[in-house]
Amino acid sequence: MHDKTILIADNSVINRMQMGGILASEYNILEADNGRDALDIMNEHGADGIDVVLLDLHMPGQTGFDVLAEKQANPAIADIPVIVITADSVTAAEVRALDAGASDFLIKPIEPEIMRRRIHLVINARELEEQRMLEEAAWITDHDDLTGLYTRKAFLREMQDMIDVNPSNEYMIAVWDFENFKTFNELFGTTLGDRMLITAAHCMGEHVAGSGVYGRLGNDNFAFCIEVGQADVEAIMEAISGGIKALLAQSNIDFTPSLVTGVYLVDDNGVEASVMLDRAMMARNTVKGDYDHHIAFYNTELTERMLEEQDIINNMEHALDNGEFHVQLQPVHDIVTGRPVSAEALVRWHRPGHGVVSPGVFVPLFEENGFISKMDHDIWEQVCQILANRRDEGLPEIPISVNLSRRSIFDSSLYDEIVALVEKYDVKPSLFRIEITESSYTENMGLVISMVTRLRDYGFTVLMDDFGSGYSSFNAFSDIPVNILKADMVFMQNLERNPRVASIFTSIVNMAHSLDIPVIAEGVETKEQFEFLRSVGCDYAQGYYCARPMDLEAFTAHVDEH
Ligand code: C2E
Ligand code: MG
Ligand code: MG
Repeated sequence: MHDKTILIADNSVINRMQMGGILASEYNILEADNGRDALDIMNEHGADGIDVVLLDLHMPGQTGFDVLAEKQANPAIADIPVIVITADSVTAAEVRALDAGASDFLIKPIEPEIMRRRIHLVINARELEEQRMLEEAAWITDHDDLTGLYTRKAFLREMQDMIDVNPSNEYMIAVWDFENFKTFNELFGTTLGDRMLITAAHCMGEHVAGSGVYGRLGNDNFAFCIEVGQADVEAIMEAISGGIKALLAQSNIDFTPSLVTGVYLVDDNGVEASVMLDRAMMARNTVKGDYDHHIAFYNTELTERMLEEQDIINNMEHALDNGEFHVQLQPVHDIVTGRPVSAEALVRWHRPGHGVVSPGVFVPLFEENGFISKMDHDIWEQVCQILANRRDEGLPEIPISVNLSRRSIFDSSLYDEIVALVEKYDVKPSLFRIEITESSYTENMGLVISMVTRLRDYGFTVLMDDFGSGYSSFNAFSDIPVNILKADMVFMQNLERNPRVASIFTSIVNMAHSLDIPVIAEGVETKEQFEFLRSVGCDYAQGYYCARPMDLEAFTAHVDEH
């Protein structure tokens, strides 16, 4: 058995013997004495089973041209190289044969040495071509179409290789992306968005090539891995940002992109590459959406925190079914009379083995994964039940407000859900109040305005929560038709420390009053704060000074006492 196989297709047995005799010492020989057989043999052995076909052009029945045509039309065998054998010295026939897909030709009588060389050349050419195609295919799967950088998979492999070659060196992995790349695409179009990515890739390459590996993980996510001390992550990120700014300047856009980076300083070179990448990403997540910090380093606390978060997420559905989310009520007191006039419903998770868990621990996670809408629905239902029970027991009416997550306000079913609940319990909509936190307003003001208007038209009272805690307070307040303003507790916290806070707070109360909107001050903890609020005409106070959040029984007693 030889490595390579040649099919000789010739109707003359003498020709076949002659050629076979020359080639048998080097190749396996297959023979066909007509065109039909030649095609059948090719089909049987396939493109990998035959290395060259020597094809006589003049055979009875199917001629060599017919064979060529049928072979070319069949993808399974089209790649098999064919050398045609002709007695004609007429160039036209040779040209036709080459056009029809033959690789080369030989003229009878056959010169053994020439035949051998042509066969070698044809086989080598095919092998080279295959090699090239394999390389090209590998390049394509390893590289991203748009930027030409390594794909995620290839980056991880190359990074692992780099570390494995010199495991005693210290490495660092940085993962970065754009803050709000989506918005940018929407504002300026994907063409420019793509050019930004290409420019970013190019800049990163310029600074990392030679000292490390880098790639595009997908969308606007990039990563690089360098040896510690070889380059400075912050300088690299500055350079990338500068490159993009320059690109945008060409389109007359004055914009400095904000790049968010997470870095993992590899403390254990034995950790899998993908885990290293995850750690860098975990670090990056801590600075996403943060105006002041754009770069963060991984530490082990992040893993612990992630595990805790995972634990919460794994248990949330069960907790809801098990009725572990309870409402606490915090009274809101009238500043003039000192009496409780309304309340805020605040969720508490009575988690077996963990005690009472505060919303600060789980609400942000539920907002991220969408579970908040289910949990909030449960809380709203509990509030409706409380209101309905008070009515049935003939207790005085007292409105209770619920918190609406930033996410729920953009949920189209929100309105129907709330309306269905108050109808189910036959609760007066004016007693069911809705707090919308200030940070919801930044995203889509138009939608928020129409939602608030609809809720108000039905008869609900809408409160603007956490006023003054964000960047957009005044814009939002002037555009959104809320009924009540809740001033964030930062005002009370800074009242004594900073004398300007008192005058700012006073202007807020006056501004709200000029629009007939009452003000609730949050976080009132001391008598001094309460007296200050009274002196500036603030309407209501909520805070530990008046009452802490409490369970229903304590709340009923508290209202009753006053
Ligand atoms: P928020 O709506 O601004 O609620 C006021 C927070 O201030 C509550 O924290 C309350 O316990 C606390 N507080 C009240 N008086 C004082 C005081 O005098 N001093 C201090 N330092 N704090 C005071 P809590 O209950 O931990 O809730 C935190 C946040 O979680 C809430 O802020 C709200 O945004 C969110 N949240 C609470 N319950 C729910 C809920 O059922 N659904 C949703 N979506 N979010 C909720
Ligand atoms: Mg609130
Ligand atoms: Mg608040």
